[in-house]
Amino acid sequence: MTNDGAPLRLFNSLTREIEEFRPIHEGEARVYSCGPTVYNYQHIGNMRAYIFADTLGRVLSWKGYDLTHIINITDVGHLTSDADAGPDKMEKAASESGKSAWDIAEYYTGVFKGDIARLNIRPPAKWTVATAHVEAMIDFAKTIADKHCYELDSGLYFDTSTVPEYGRLARAVTEEGEGRIDTVEGKRHQSDFAIWRKTPEGETRQMEWDSPWGKGAPGWHLECSVMSKQYLGEQFDIHTGGIDHREIHHPNEIAQNQAHSCSAHTGANIWMHNNFLVDRRGKMSKSAGEFLTLQTLVDKGVLPLAYRLMCLQAHYRSELEFSWENLLAALTRLKRMVMAAQQLRDRVEAPTTDIDHPRLQQLLTAFDEAVSDDLNTPKALTVLDDVLGQKKIDPAQRLATVALIDAVLGLELVTLTRQDIRVRPSTARVDEALIEHQLDLRDEAKGNKNFPAADAIRNELASNGVEVMDGDPLRWDWIIEAN
Ligand code: AMP
Ligand code: ZN
Repeated sequence: MTNDGAPLRLFNSLTREIEEFRPIHEGEARVYSCGPTVYNYQHIGNMRAYIFADTLGRVLSWKGYDLTHIINITDVGHLTSDADAGPDKMEKAASESGKSAWDIAEYYTGVFKGDIARLNIRPPAKWTVATAHVEAMIDFAKTIADKHCYELDSGLYFDTSTVPEYGRLARAVTEEGEGRIDTVEGKRHQSDFAIWRKTPEGETRQMEWDSPWGKGAPGWHLECSVMSKQYLGEQFDIHTGGIDHREIHHPNEIAQNQAHSCSAHTGANIWMHNNFLVDRRGKMSKSAGEFLTLQTLVDKGVLPLAYRLMCLQAHYRSELEFSWENLLAALTRLKRMVMAAQQLRDRVEAPTTDIDHPRLQQLLTAFDEAVSDDLNTPKALTVLDDVLGQKKIDPAQRLATVALIDAVLGLELVTLTRQDIRVRPSTARVDEALIEHQLDLRDEAKGNKNFPAADAIRNELASNGVEVMDGDPLRWDWIIEAN
């Protein structure tokens, strides 16, 4: 049953308009998200895409829909450029590292899933792995080959003029988009793309399969058409990905879907895209060389959930600028929220789930309106601040309200403690036991009114990256530099 709050309205990249969400199957929401290419670590920009997809999933659950979410793992087929040329990212990583493509995929998939857990992103109903679906991809390609494809020496290509309104999702042919596709000799149109790539004569690939078009590997776009159809149906509710996918990958998925269903239906009713995480150099990307992983943040002493909060502070369709200052500001905000929630927990003797206080009901309505308005998480966070700040209202009801809201925001406010947020930076030179011991000595010195000795201990700790916090039950915290 869906709740009777505000109608859920989402921005559909296909129409470039906000539309009311109407599920295909009553009471259900079926969502497919393009997942990582597991040839390298995911950077925190990539992780923004999954925080967004998770927020969407949590809002759908909040609205009462029974959610089926699929995320794929791309372990074959994604080329080093968005063009249909150059080596496969997996094969390239394998030859550079001397490891097998399969081992590389396994390693980076494991790291990715670990990051998903650290960001409190709910795992999907199923992780679908591309290499486990190659037979289904070949079958799919067979059904569209005659009417929509042509064969060249390098593979089987999709003729984009055979489907209605190719590229409607991308709209303009931009410098970033179709126009950039390198030409492959013999292609009928610049936007045509490979759905099967033959292994060149005399070469062997680590990942290759037999097909009616020769030994080779599937094109990247094929996997998403095949796996979304297999697990969610030929028509499902929502497809998500980063905004770069609006230009090539998703228009190509749509073309394949239309060819397969022999209709103008794009596959998903709503296509949603998160905007980029950028830094001073522009879009964070792996090809730009240096990039930040979640582990970089942890090494610095930042709890991953602070990054989640940083993402939620911006609307998913806005660019989000990464800077250490922004991240540390989010960390401070998270600490405040956690302290407020912890104080509430300390005061509640008999937990409740009944929320009948009119102000809290009003705030829950405001929260529902915010998240129903194309996932307006910045506004939803201000409602959460408001709930935490209602000092005069019964703590048990406030805590219950926080729990409801946090089920959508995923900041773990009901369980996290200030202690959990104190993450040891990898550069720390002192250990916790020593810090506690020095603080005991400092208390003793203060008790003896030996203030110079107390100050000396404080200064020494500061020079070791530790801030002494008088009057705080936590007593101390790590100093994190904003650079
Ligand atoms: P990839 O592993 O390259 O296939 O990318 C995984 C996901 O991250 C895709 O949905 C991309 O669109 C998305 N993505 C890539 N770079 C960024 C970025 N800087 N900010 C946000 N999302 C991104
Ligand atoms: Zn995809």
